[in-house]
Amino acid sequence: MNKEGMFRYLDRNKKTLTDISDKIWDYAETAFEEFRSADLIMDTMKRHGFDVESGTGGIGTAFCASFGAGGPVIGILAEYDALSGLSQEAGAAERREVIPGGNGHGCGHNLFAGGSVGAAMAVKEYISENKLPGTVKLFGCPGEEGGSGKAFMARGGAFGGLDAALAWHPMAVNAILDMSMLANYQVLYKFKGTASHAAASPEKGRSALDAAELMNVGVNFLREHVIQDARIHYAITNSGGFSPNVVQPTADVLYLIRAPRTSQVEEIYQRVNKIARGAAMMTETEVEIQFVKACANIVPNKTLSKALHDNLTGMDMPVYTEEELNLASMIAKTSPGSASSDLERYVRGRPAELRRCLDMLDGHPICDMALPFYPDDPDSILPGSSDVGDVSWITPTAQVVTACYSLGTPEHSWQLVSQSKTSIGHKGMMLAAKAMAGAAVDALESPDLLKRAKEELTERLNGETYRSAIPAHVMPKPISKL
Ligand SMILES: [Zn+2]
Repeated sequence: MNKEGMFRYLDRNKKTLTDISDKIWDYAETAFEEFRSADLIMDTMKRHGFDVESGTGGIGTAFCASFGAGGPVIGILAEYDALSGLSQEAGAAERREVIPGGNGHGCGHNLFAGGSVGAAMAVKEYISENKLPGTVKLFGCPGEEGGSGKAFMARGGAFGGLDAALAWHPMAVNAILDMSMLANYQVLYKFKGTASHAAASPEKGRSALDAAELMNVGVNFLREHVIQDARIHYAITNSGGFSPNVVQPTADVLYLIRAPRTSQVEEIYQRVNKIARGAAMMTETEVEIQFVKACANIVPNKTLSKALHDNLTGMDMPVYTEEELNLASMIAKTSPGSASSDLERYVRGRPAELRRCLDMLDGHPICDMALPFYPDDPDSILPGSSDVGDVSWITPTAQVVTACYSLGTPEHSWQLVSQSKTSIGHKGMMLAAKAMAGAAVDALESPDLLKRAKEELTERLNGETYRSAIPAHVMPKPISKL
């Protein structure tokens, strides 16, 4: 079997992959509660001859499906969690909620699952047809949204022994995601005070809500004295009830602290803790600091990314029907984003190149070209976070993105949910499966590629090794059950 034969195998299995994606879209399960989604993928992998281990890293909805023997060992990452509050009719060009307040696949992780399953199946076929040594492992990674499932899996040693890892993400363009992303900690501050009648006996009360508010004020002053690239966000997840005539006895604030490196997050976290304790002292309340999760920054790997880009550009780009183009145009009219902002991330600091790409896409509501990749560019930071970060510290890791949505579609939006269960999304998913399978085969057959990718990782880590920032006693939990 050659690569072309492997891609034809993927085309023959398109229905299996689109069915997985569409069913997971229907299930729309949120972080660490993706039981049906994980079962569906595990059953499929077993049927296709993979050995499946469930509960990887002690997480009920994580798994690892392996095929092959010996090295090299190539990991492919799959995600399948949805977002709350984004229920939306598929293929609609206007906001139409299906289940009031229900969940929706606002980050396209249903497609993510289908594409990664496809890549793993194709690599398995290639290994067995060609009787090659080597192993392919599909990692079922739950709770990416607000849960950092991969970071818990990494803490449990799931990614040890890999020679390389590949992942992808549905997006509005076809490109390589070679940027670093921010490390983060998520921490819940739980204040406890004393309830009392707010008018008749206020002197007997000690307000937990006052403490939470004072903590937030303190942190807002802290912002002036942290590094530029740090981000500190919070949500009051419990304000102590809705009776203003009660001195609120409880209040919870969930913090998300981000910075380019884990050591910088740790430093800010210690300062935020001091502010929380200070707020408790001022109000004569108590504070409990509950560490929820952490994830590491992404260590880019240009060597492996280049191999992935070569495979992406070697592929025929999808061709879209009139119907798909019409839907994409209608959705684009409702989107606040633009093609230019979608492209800028990848064509950084090259205005002429950006104009050239925009000209080529003029009148195309869906990106039908592969964007250039600049392996020699200095690293840039995408100011978000991803738990792929933890994997990227352990083994050379590369990520591709493919166009599954109209240009300008905002992430985590109803427009994205709508397109995640359409043939537009399916076409992007198939392209990603092929690009990852192609790069995995290159890694299996080229010891030199893996050697150079590992040398790059060693150089970038500069003597540091991966250390999980999540304390040993902290286990993953659905956000509604913190
Ligand atoms: Zn996502």
